[in-house]
Amino acid sequence: MKTILYKSEPVRGEHWQKLLADLAPEYRFVQWNSLDFSDGDPEIFAEVDYLVAWVPPENIAQRMPQLKVLFSVGAGVDQFDLTQLPASLPVVRMVEPGLTQGMVEYVTLAALALHRDLPLYLQQQKQSLWKSHPVVSANKRRIGVLGLGELGQATLNMLKNFGFECHGWSRSGNTPEGVTGWAGVEQLPAFLSHCDIMVCLLPLTPQTRGMLNGELFARLPRGAALIQTGRGQQLVAEDLLAALDSGHLRAAVLDVTDPEPLPLEDALWSHPGVWITPHIASQTQPETAVTALLANLQRYEQGQPMQGEIDKTKGY
Ligand code: NDP
Repeated sequence: MKTILYKSEPVRGEHWQKLLADLAPEYRFVQWNSLDFSDGDPEIFAEVDYLVAWVPPENIAQRMPQLKVLFSVGAGVDQFDLTQLPASLPVVRMVEPGLTQGMVEYVTLAALALHRDLPLYLQQQKQSLWKSHPVVSANKRRIGVLGLGELGQATLNMLKNFGFECHGWSRSGNTPEGVTGWAGVEQLPAFLSHCDIMVCLLPLTPQTRGMLNGELFARLPRGAALIQTGRGQQLVAEDLLAALDSGHLRAAVLDVTDPEPLPLEDALWSHPGVWITPHIASQTQPETAVTALLANLQRYEQGQPMQGEIDKTKGY
């Protein structure tokens, strides 16, 4: 019997446990919070085959000598210190339809709200001000997505249905049909000049940390808006506030911040051009995540490539 150790939020873990017991009783599922560490590492560590974690424990290779794969419960792996993991240990991020659907919903909601000037009308309501502004048709609005992976592509596939002019940027520039693709740092300025609404769906890596800064904002068209659903450390918050205050940017929807939770005194909370949600754009859904995990275990055990296996040298 293979052993899966789960180290993440325990209430969701109970849900995973029930689903796995129904779908794949041949696996033993152990929750981290059920273990007794009073005499050091519990004996079960010697039998762990697969670790499913948000933040893994230290020295996992030494402490779990049978460990075959490390799975992230989330879409990102930036919470892992990849330099501390054995080169031979496969690391797999979460790719599952529930998580993708959640992100598509969130970005669509935010993009439509920005497209239809909802932040402006909510401000006007506070002043009991009945004042209309021209409605821009979707085909005159350009939306650009930074990051064309699982989430970026799914989001663009939804947005293009509204008739928006869609653009996407990534390393490779692989885009869905109907989307103009831009690749690499050389094409970033041209991509940015096409974004009336820019969405960030990049993973956090050394290259993307601090990337949403004043220099990048200056390349966006005047009056552009930002949707930040990547990771908080990609955004230089002071630069965003300066760009909003100068009127160069008109609004920002932030689902992720640095740090999280955002401190009470942070200026982002009260800025009229900023909407904040507490990192809920999308969440891993146990039903679909357990199915995705089992499909990957089957692939791994049959010697096939797993979906979502990351390249440690790239960091995503
Ligand atoms: P993927 O790994 O599938 O896609 C990442 C994309 O980013 C790829 O298109 C990749 O390019 C591109 N990319 C990475 N680094 C660079 C770079 N330096 N320059 C240009 N392009 C780059 O990830 P997902 O789509 O599944 O997820 C994206 C991120 O969304 C996650 O890492 C996480 O940070 C965030 N997220 C946020 C959530 C929330 O609730 N706010 C929930 C889930 C995820 P290429 O295709 O060329 O390799």
